[in-house]
Amino acid sequence: MIYSVRWQLLLSMVAVILITVGMTALFANLAANAEINRLQGQDAAARDERLTKLLSDAYLYDGSWLGSQAVLENASTLYGEHLVLTDLQHQVVADSQDSVIGQYLGTTSTSRHKASVLGVEGPIGTLWFSPGVPTGASLDSVVGAESSGPSLSLLLILSGLLAVGVALILTFFVSHRILRPLESLARVSRLAARRDFTVRAHVQSRDEVGELARTFNTMLAELSRTEELRRNLVGDVAHELRTPLTNIRGYVEGISDGVMQPDAETLTSIRGEIHLLTRLIEDLQDLALVESGQMQLKVRSCDLGDLIKDASLAVHPQAQAKSISLEVDEACRLPIQADAQRVSQVLCNLLVNAITHTPTGGRVQIWARKVEGRVQVSVKDDGPGIAAEDQPYVFERFFRVDKSRSRATGGVGLGLTITRRLVEAHQGQIEVISQAGQGAEFRFTLPLEPVSQPA
Ligand code: ADP
Repeated sequence: MIYSVRWQLLLSMVAVILITVGMTALFANLAANAEINRLQGQDAAARDERLTKLLSDAYLYDGSWLGSQAVLENASTLYGEHLVLTDLQHQVVADSQDSVIGQYLGTTSTSRHKASVLGVEGPIGTLWFSPGVPTGASLDSVVGAESSGPSLSLLLILSGLLAVGVALILTFFVSHRILRPLESLARVSRLAARRDFTVRAHVQSRDEVGELARTFNTMLAELSRTEELRRNLVGDVAHELRTPLTNIRGYVEGISDGVMQPDAETLTSIRGEIHLLTRLIEDLQDLALVESGQMQLKVRSCDLGDLIKDASLAVHPQAQAKSISLEVDEACRLPIQADAQRVSQVLCNLLVNAITHTPTGGRVQIWARKVEGRVQVSVKDDGPGIAAEDQPYVFERFFRVDKSRSRATGGVGLGLTITRRLVEAHQGQIEVISQAGQGAEFRFTLPLEPVSQPA
């Protein structure tokens, strides 16, 4: 509990308050003492001046110290001091307590204070203030004024206690505000560790902790989607493997039972199924390579126009089978530095997708051009397009807009993922522009400059 943020906050606040109050008390005391000393000094000086003037006047009036005894007695009563007056020979000529008259006082007397009594031509005597006697009545009034109210230390202690009380309340509310999202985060993290990504952290504050909780929620949503994709992957791969394998087994059993003939037509069907299996395995292999960053690009100078022409030729039979007009921009001759095989793979993936999703008799266009020091390639079809809500996911692994339709075409939703990774490995970018019902356009860029091999 002592390690909790709430306690740490509280302890640090209390420490700050105690240090502040302590320092304030110390400095206030020092300042007050200095002021009292200054006032005492001023008062003593005024008193000395008054007394020595009285004694001097009395001496001048009488021509002797006769009247000084009465002056000292009155002053002693007034100021509460034991006062002694000596002449120039240090003989006591007046004593407010009438005890040492006639005696000699040494110059090293232990008196707290002394003052010279001046005559017309200079000093005529010395006035001695006895040690240990309380200060004058005028100062008592000053001290009395201070003691009439609560002392400074008491006020400081009270204000310190009040500050600690406020700190307690503040710490409770502030820590509650800070810790609620953190506690919620801890709870959600524990659930996430058990692969439960359904719960979200409770977010209300707009501070850094709130920001952290929001980022955490975004990460959870992403993890949840990845987990779903992972689960789908196993199901999808199993299904994609099962379908052609079941078909192949059917053909083989049919032949061995004599129900089917091992003729060219049957063998072509078997080859088709094997082709699907091979494509799935190749896609998975490619994906593993690009995602682990282990794919080595064989970069060399090549002509993008040639690659586009070759890819168009490769998909021509598919386009012809659906009476789709494949329009290739003949002007797109652009020398690039790239892995020709991988760029062809990108072009073929996009063209096959376009042909697959374009209805019979439709049109697929492909062109390339220089844009801001890069080459941009576009593959456009007039198929059904891709809905806005699906567009952010088309490049994700195993994403298929229409599962049953994709299966019929042999795709498992890996084509565009691999395509994007290949484009990115060439330091390019790919995007989809589409409106549902108005065809889809896939655009990707490649740098004209030589590309470096990925690490
Ligand atoms: P697949 O290999 O299953 O075709 P892709 O990764 O190539 O997977 O594509 C992902 C999904 O994007 C497809 O299931 C398809 O629904 C959609 N898609 C891709 N290209 C197009 C296109 N030209 N027109 C409409 N939808 C497309």
